[in-house]
Amino acid sequence: MSTDLQELFQSNRQWAAATEAREPGFFTRLLNQQSPQYLWIGCADSRVPANDLVGLLPGELFVHRNVANLLVHSDLNALSVVQYAVDALQVSHIIVVGHSNCGGVRAAMTNQRAGLVDNWLRHVQDVRDAHEGFLAGLHESLQVNALVELNVLEQARNVCRTTVVSDAWHRGQSVVVHGWVYGLHNGLLEDLKITATSADEVGLAYDTALALVKQRYRQLTVLAGAAAMPSAAGA
Ligand SMILES: [Zn+2]
Repeated sequence: MSTDLQELFQSNRQWAAATEAREPGFFTRLLNQQSPQYLWIGCADSRVPANDLVGLLPGELFVHRNVANLLVHSDLNALSVVQYAVDALQVSHIIVVGHSNCGGVRAAMTNQRAGLVDNWLRHVQDVRDAHEGFLAGLHESLQVNALVELNVLEQARNVCRTTVVSDAWHRGQSVVVHGWVYGLHNGLLEDLKITATSADEVGLAYDTALALVKQRYRQLTVLAGAAAMPSAAGA
């Protein structure tokens, strides 16, 4: 790898040329406006490239990413993104996307120390602690992914509770909040069904989605336990 990263510039030139060849005038059309329909709030993990996963082009997805896809009520960075997306760009959908085997969530789950980021991940540990009994009852191999999903539900609910989204709903603006999870192992997105279109729906959407996550991971725990046990017939 060169120190001036020429390989990245070269690949950028190729990408720009191919994009323009495929769709002449692509960049000049985007020059003066963007009108994305979606705001993606995802993890900073390099294996979860937002636009690529959903096949969207530049101009089609407004993106905010941080470690463990958090929406913290005092995070002016994330809140500014949400505010601009809702008020200025008028996006129709806000999607919080977690991913399986998230390093940040794993560190939070297992109390791994990594430095300054531990303070950020404390928010995930708060989610873990809120569901301590449920997580403790799961097979150990499932706990991180379960917390990934619980965290998505929590952050999606946080999005719903921001003044920005709450005000938008109050004035009748259509904004749908979603919570998804991405499988690193298969490249597939799954909907955790916490979909909310108004303040009134948030509580029930959260409770229903939470019950589904718990039910699924309890079933997986039974299966994992059965797989780990020597077969009774063979013993
Ligand atoms: Zn992650």
